Amino acid sequence: MKRREFIKVSGLLGASAAVSPTLLLGGCASQPLPGTGAVSVTPTVCDMCFWKCAGHVYREDGKLWKVEGNDADLHSGGRLCTRGTGGPGVYLDPDRLRKPLMRVTVNGRQTFQEVSWEEALDHIAAKMQAIAETAGPERLVMLSHGAGARHFRHLLRAYGSDSRAEPSFAQCRGPRDVGFRLTVGESVGSPERTDMANAECIVLLGSHIGENLHNAQVQTLAQAINRDATLITVDPRFSVPAGKSKYWLPIKPGTDMALLLSWMHVIISEELYDSDYVERYTIGFEQLAAHVRDYTPEWVYLETGIKPEVIRKTAREMANAAPATVVHPGRHASWYGDDAQRSRAIAILNVLLGSWNRKGGFYIPEWVNLPEYPLPAYPEPKAGTADAYPGKWPFASSGVTNGVIDASIGDDAFFKGWLVYGTNLPQTVPAVEEKLKAAANSLELVVVVETMPSEMTGYADVILPECTYLERYDDLRNSPERHPSLALRMPAFEPQYDSKPGWWMAKQLGHRLGLDAYFPWQDYAEKLDWQLNQVGSSLEEMQRIGVKNFPRKRPLYFRDGQRVRFRTPSGKIELYSQQLADQGFDPMPVYTPPEPVPKGFYRLNYGRMPAHTFGKTTNNPLLFQLAPENQLWVNPLVASGFTHSWFSGASWNRSGLFVVLPKVCAGIRP
Ligand code: SF4
Repeated sequence: MKRREFIKVSGLLGASAAVSPTLLLGGCASQPLPGTGAVSVTPTVCDMCFWKCAGHVYREDGKLWKVEGNDADLHSGGRLCTRGTGGPGVYLDPDRLRKPLMRVTVNGRQTFQEVSWEEALDHIAAKMQAIAETAGPERLVMLSHGAGARHFRHLLRAYGSDSRAEPSFAQCRGPRDVGFRLTVGESVGSPERTDMANAECIVLLGSHIGENLHNAQVQTLAQAINRDATLITVDPRFSVPAGKSKYWLPIKPGTDMALLLSWMHVIISEELYDSDYVERYTIGFEQLAAHVRDYTPEWVYLETGIKPEVIRKTAREMANAAPATVVHPGRHASWYGDDAQRSRAIAILNVLLGSWNRKGGFYIPEWVNLPEYPLPAYPEPKAGTADAYPGKWPFASSGVTNGVIDASIGDDAFFKGWLVYGTNLPQTVPAVEEKLKAAANSLELVVVVETMPSEMTGYADVILPECTYLERYDDLRNSPERHPSLALRMPAFEPQYDSKPGWWMAKQLGHRLGLDAYFPWQDYAEKLDWQLNQVGSSLEEMQRIGVKNFPRKRPLYFRDGQRVRFRTPSGKIELYSQQLADQGFDPMPVYTPPEPVPKGFYRLNYGRMPAHTFGKTTNNPLLFQLAPENQLWVNPLVASGFTHSWFSGASWNRSGLFVVLPKVCAGIRP
């Protein structure tokens, strides 16, 4: 079937009537807790966002009671955020996908039909086999978000494809990581390696920590504020951190690059930079000094609206606290198209302050050297993801979703099949609807693995209902952090309905594709236990403690005068980037004024809500109760005459994001 009609799954399932959150929690709100029943505890790793906090699931008489943070965990510091605490809502959600669904045509109309797991998996495996034989396995691409995707990546690599993309790369932190990698040779990672716990000055650009609840990050920012660290917030909106700041810089949207270059101008012209650090570790300082010479605070004031004396004062504050100064790299870094360069400017500013890998700036993360389970080597794919869009995005370190979608349209398209895991593309990639329809009409196979119906499930041939994170094993969490640690996600409950864990689906598909050698475990617990045994632990131990911390092997920061080889072509921090120059890009970050906005239109800034993770949580009854609508901030003058139909789009209510109209509208210049 090639012409795929969009099918709304919720309509087919007969969406349940609104269910009270207190009913969902088994009436616990009317029963004082802890109750009289037997309480049991199971470790988990939260799946409500990418921060992956470790916690404990509490059950009373076998029924879900609550989820709390694990005290031994650096990601959570023993506390879960609003969304993590509301995690039980996804387990109890009556709208969950319950059985495999397959697209069929009934009376000339396409619809989904419930099928058995055998039927669904047989169909997918047959299609995968056909794609491998006619086009090559690398023509099946995975589009994903979330830790559970690893099971399917393993399956695809065993099958012969390493084609994959995550919207969270190009749409979120990809430009940031590219900018840092081009400059210091590595990314800031996730969780970000900022040492805010020891910082004396913190600079936030368009980053509203405290409204985005990236758990330990919020806690370390709060600690810094309690220590009277200087907080400088650059944001057109008076955000939560702006309210805690010594300096709030309500910048005109899209002019952050000019401010960053002007800060560098002040720091270099007043000789406030860390000359020893710059001399020891960098190349290109002379070019940088010449490049920022013209970005005087007076000139930049005209672009940004930030007064020259404020630019100078804040630059001096940063330098006074250096190297214990963090110019925060941010997270959702895709703004105006010059994002990798803006991130490079942030990296360079941190380098001038000598804060990269220095106490109070950035730390050097470590993770556990965890052996992989012994399996046959993966076959070498004949093509990689970037071969689908040759010449585009040469510095992208991961697949670019827009490129994958473009390369999936038409009969001669590069990609023939999609495996979509945990990502809702219509709500994730801006203005992609028409292209998605075109791709859906071109592809041989679209499989969606999800816990909930979404816009993306409407494009699927087959929908595989995954059980929630409270009902399954996944791989051990082994994130780069202040010290190495492992955390276990395990089932606290049997999967509800006919949902299954991702590892089971991957194994079943592997079996049908003749790939049993890659899936020797009967239960994923076997694989985890083997890995844990290699590092002196066991599944039994992790089931008790949930998080195991390991000692560091190297210092947390650079030692004084330490010799370092950075992972750049020159082995130095590259203030001037020959790599960029060689590819025809600006070797230095250059400010380009944002395009003016047509009369009657306004710039839209947006960000996160504390109670939601994008659109992923909007159906969660517990979180929906807390935040049923997005907030729209709009300047009162604009609001008083605000009748423009531009804002009547329904998607605002579903995105899980707040939207902001900044005070300074485009076209108005001082
Ligand atoms: Fe869960 Fe909140 Fe931690 Fe994200 S930050 S993993 S939602 S507790």
